[in-house]
Amino acid sequence: MPFATFRRRFTLAFSRRVADTFVARGGTLSLGTSVREIVIEKGRVTGVNLAGGQFVPGDYVVPATDIHTTLEKLLGNAYPLKQFTLRDNDPSSYPLMTSVHVALAVDDELKGWNHSITFTCKPFVLANCTYHQLSLGNYAYEPSFSPPGSNVLTISLDTDYDYWKEQVRDRKGYKAAKENIYNSLFGVLEDKFPQLKGKITGLDIATPLTYERYCDAYRGSWMSYIITPKSKNLIYNGKIKGVKNLYMAGQWLMPPGGLPVAAMTGKWAIERIKKQEKIR
Ligand SMILES: Cc1cc2nc3c(=O)[nH]c(=O)nc-3n(C[C@H](O)[C@H](O)[C@H](O)COP(=O)(O)OP(=O)(O)OC[C@H]3O[C@@H](n4cnc5c(N)ncnc54)[C@H](O)[C@@H]3O)c2cc1C
Repeated sequence: MPFATFRRRFTLAFSRRVADTFVARGGTLSLGTSVREIVIEKGRVTGVNLAGGQFVPGDYVVPATDIHTTLEKLLGNAYPLKQFTLRDNDPSSYPLMTSVHVALAVDDELKGWNHSITFTCKPFVLANCTYHQLSLGNYAYEPSFSPPGSNVLTISLDTDYDYWKEQVRDRKGYKAAKENIYNSLFGVLEDKFPQLKGKITGLDIATPLTYERYCDAYRGSWMSYIITPKSKNLIYNGKIKGVKNLYMAGQWLMPPGGLPVAAMTGKWAIERIKKQEKIR
């Protein structure tokens, strides 16, 4: 089986379990489309308009999109929330995190290697950032992730969103920047682990623009605002003043976000609907 097929299994099985449970419990999924706007009439949401123009009616709407997408695109900036505007205008107190995520195919099972390996290396510069150490994710523990005799390593590098935004102006520049990442990492890895020489191939690279393009993630951020000594705590209830039946969910409601927050805020949205409907 080619590596590409294995690669798709990384998160596919996880996503499928969530989707299958949703459908098994009576949910309907509309895939391959996006929501263009949330329709509100006289303070009540009546449904959503999809990108293709189709109107999907609803008694309640739970936008689980990035809060910036929800407020700016789906609600057309009609309901700005100062909690988020303040934070976006003060990035030194409320920084965001984004990264370049690299997956490498290795023609070696790497038996006996730890799941996670961190090592210092000769400093190297990539995409305007200097790195002194690398952390490897080693997927040898899961046989379905790679063909027999081989393995997958992942590397995550903190990066600068603006650098990548500049690169994408020119497709060639963007491609070259990605190639540069592969070549630098091959060099660092072969230096540290000479037994890997000639055995590493690039599988895939996600940049901040990948998160932006696939998930409409604000500045490619895959977490919410990072907690700093200057930042104030935020737990936002997901409601919008003047709109009765809309309850937002997602990681931005409770920085610094992450999967537990996404799941928890979804649950809270449903509990608020139950309360409104007087369902125990
Ligand atoms: C490499 C990596 C590793 C991570 N590791 C961890 C970890 O170990 N632990 C942890 O807690 N978190 C981790 N995270 C972070 C975690 O993935 C996020 O916190 C989480 O996905 C946020 O969930 P969310 O539902 O709020 O937003 P998202 O996952 O971004 O979901 C929003 C969804 O809305 C969709 N969307 C956008 N616009 C529209 C539209 N107009 N119409 C319809 N749909 C739309 C997007 O496509 C997306 O699927 C990691 C992230 C990355 C990238």
